[in-house]
This record gives sequence, structure tokens and C-alpha cells, in this order.
Amino acid sequence: MEEATPVTSGGTFLTYYRFRSFGESNPDDIDVNAPMIAFTFDDGPNPENTERILKTLTENYSHATFFVVGSNAEKYPDTLKAIASAGCEIGNHTYGHANLTSISWEEAQEQIDKTNRAVNKAIGEDTTVIRPPYGAYDDNLLNALQEPVVLWDLDTEDWDSRDAQKIADNILSSVKDGDIVLMHDIYDSTADAVEIVVPKLKEQGYQIMSVSEMAAYKGKELELGKAYGKFKSEE
Ligand code: ZN
Repeated sequence: MEEATPVTSGGTFLTYYRFRSFGESNPDDIDVNAPMIAFTFDDGPNPENTERILKTLTENYSHATFFVVGSNAEKYPDTLKAIASAGCEIGNHTYGHANLTSISWEEAQEQIDKTNRAVNKAIGEDTTVIRPPYGAYDDNLLNALQEPVVLWDLDTEDWDSRDAQKIADNILSSVKDGDIVLMHDIYDSTADAVEIVVPKLKEQGYQIMSVSEMAAYKGKELELGKAYGKFKSEE
């Protein structure tokens, strides 16, 4: 996927996105003045639900970031390839969903590297961003990690409710421009929720993208040693 770059002018996303997938075309498809959100999915890949979510995203010219667990990544290389070829981003969620603050740095590094090896074997590239499981990190970890840390600010609590309409309502009732939305692509109910919510967000003018795309379109450079929960244009 081409690295997205910020644009200050260009075509209107809403005009174009019925016809083209913006990740594979040019940045002029995005209206940087229209609202954006990043969708993120943790704990997969999952052959069935990840693929369903990708189908919905692709049909709606949208992208997301998938924070994969290395042990699943090893099992499902074809799903990783499908994520990449849909123009979506693959992030690191450790090999075994480890709490990185309760293990040694050497162990943490192995958790991350092993995931990168599985991802690289499937798509020929490492992960670009990292989400520590449970959102657990400390300053030492933050300074040592070799990928920017991405958290979230809109928690759908999909793992708890397992209720598609509730998950969709959680997003629609509080979504704001620049939000990073937390979901998990291992549940049927989350794949169902994505089918409900994506067309509604599009009706409201939202452009749904990966974390790195949204950062770029908001003019933010993701830096090492920082943790990001949202991207606001005015900050
Ligand atoms: Zn997780």
C-alpha cells in the first residue's frame, strides 16, 4: 500500500468513493475537511469474521487497522494477505496476547518479533503500529518499543455485549471526528455490527480508514515513544 500523505486540497471523498477504493487510488479522494474515523480490530485474524469485515469495508470503500495476535497470524496467513490486499493496515498485538508490563523486556521483544515474523512471512512487511494488549504499557516500554503505540478513545465493548445492535449504537451515539474505534474481529456479532454501522457512518459523511491513514490525513506524524488514542485536526 502506498504511504498516505496529507493533502490540503483535492476532490471530494463523497463524490469519489462510490467508484474507487481510496487506498489504491490517490489521496485526492479524501476530503481532509470532512470527518474521519479509524476502525481498529484486535485479537484476530479470524478466517470467517475478519473476511466478513473486509468485505463490508471494501464494499464501502473503507479501511481499518487489524492488530493481530501472532499465534493467529501464523495459523491464518491467507487472512493476513486478504487484509493487506484490501488496503488495510496490520498492527502488532503480541504473539500470545501478553501483558507487556508484567514480563521482561526480552520476553516482550520476543512477543513482538515473533508476530512480525508471522506477518512478514505472509505479506512481506512488518507491522506498522503496535497496540499492547489491555492497553497496558509504562514509560520504559513506550520508550523501548520500535513501533508507535496506538490505543483508542471509543470503546465499543463488543467483547462484553456480543450484541451487534448495541455495538453499533455505542459507535453511533458517541462518534466524533478523529476517533479511534476499538473492536475485535473474532466475534460474529462484531462482524454483524460492522455491516450495520458502516453504511450509517457513511451517510453521516464519515470517512472510515486505518490509523496510519487517518494520522496522515490529519497531518500527524506517528512518532516512536508516543501513545495515540485519537487524532484531532486542531491539536
Ligand atoms: Zn486484545
